[in-house]
Amino acid sequence: MPHPYITIDLAKIEHNTRTIVGLCKSHGITVTGVTKGTCGHPEVAQAMLRGGVTSIGESQLDNILRLKDAGIHTSSMLLRLPALSEVEDVVAVADVSLNSELTVLARLSQAASRRDHTHDVIVMTDLGDLREGVWPPDLPAFIREAVQLPGIRIVGVGTNLACFGGVVPDEDNMRRLVQLADSVEYVCGRPLEWISGLNSSGLTLLASGQIPRRINHARIGEAILLGRETTHRQPWPDTFQDAFVLHAEVLELKHKPSVPLGQRSEDAFGHLDTFVNHGMIARALVNIGREEMDIHGLTPRDPGLQILGASSSYLVLDVSHRTRQLQVGDELTFSLNYSALLGAMSANYITKRPIYSAAEG
Ligand SMILES: *Cc1c(COP(=O)(O)O)cnc(C)c1O
Repeated sequence: MPHPYITIDLAKIEHNTRTIVGLCKSHGITVTGVTKGTCGHPEVAQAMLRGGVTSIGESQLDNILRLKDAGIHTSSMLLRLPALSEVEDVVAVADVSLNSELTVLARLSQAASRRDHTHDVIVMTDLGDLREGVWPPDLPAFIREAVQLPGIRIVGVGTNLACFGGVVPDEDNMRRLVQLADSVEYVCGRPLEWISGLNSSGLTLLASGQIPRRINHARIGEAILLGRETTHRQPWPDTFQDAFVLHAEVLELKHKPSVPLGQRSEDAFGHLDTFVNHGMIARALVNIGREEMDIHGLTPRDPGLQILGASSSYLVLDVSHRTRQLQVGDELTFSLNYSALLGAMSANYITKRPIYSAAEG
């Protein structure tokens, strides 16, 4: 297998999904599995579905299409607010979308009506994280307009936290969400199917048992893919953190100084880094660079290795304290954070290699 490549352990993803879905289920919460960290990788979606999610959430229509082309016809949820310029495709491709603008809803309504179709909508409200969502005092008026639109069915309200402002889901903001849902139901004159309160940042709250009972839907990506809750990025019990591993090959291995020689200017990316003098060190170049991905989210799996930096085609490591012998042509492996995962999964140069380990037990 030519390097670099990323292994995707489908058994571990399935296991993680089962753990998270089990926790959610025990609190009356249904889970949409979010595959956007993998660019809608079909086998990842299938592993999540085997693990018990009931639908797949994606931020890109192209990724939903990719899943459908692979024969995955489960219910799909578009997580990123639809662009006005894509309403026709949204109605054609996604079963549910998250929304916060009446102009967009009006155009989704026209597009759906033309197709004799009903498009399901979850209206997002902003509880303080200051990313997407209708500001709560404006919500009843928003809903009064939205319920008039043919071809659109408001199936729920939702909120997204811990993504922009870093606001943590807690009992207070979840109660506010339930109250807002009550007011929406009053305006609609019927009960909502979904109160979608949580993403991977909500697991601690959920496990504490403090979540209001009416919250019944979560959209979970990172906790399933990387086995972490996202408020403190702690490993979640009974999940794997290494379902994804990046493999790269050593191209050069030399003893060289730890500090550049000669007069210095900016590097290729406009930075002037400072170097600490450790004398001569063992340095390795491997074949991952910034042209492939954000290298800051990579951690060598050998704790004796340290990433010194990267250029567009090389990752440079201090391998002086490696725990095993190294030679040119050897493979180094790295674990990934969410940003590195996204980069690796969208990089054309990095081969995706699904595997199925004996994860259970
Ligand atoms: C990405 C995204 C999620 C999933 O978030 P995780 O932290 O990966 O669980 C949920 N909801 C929305 C709206 C998103 O954009």
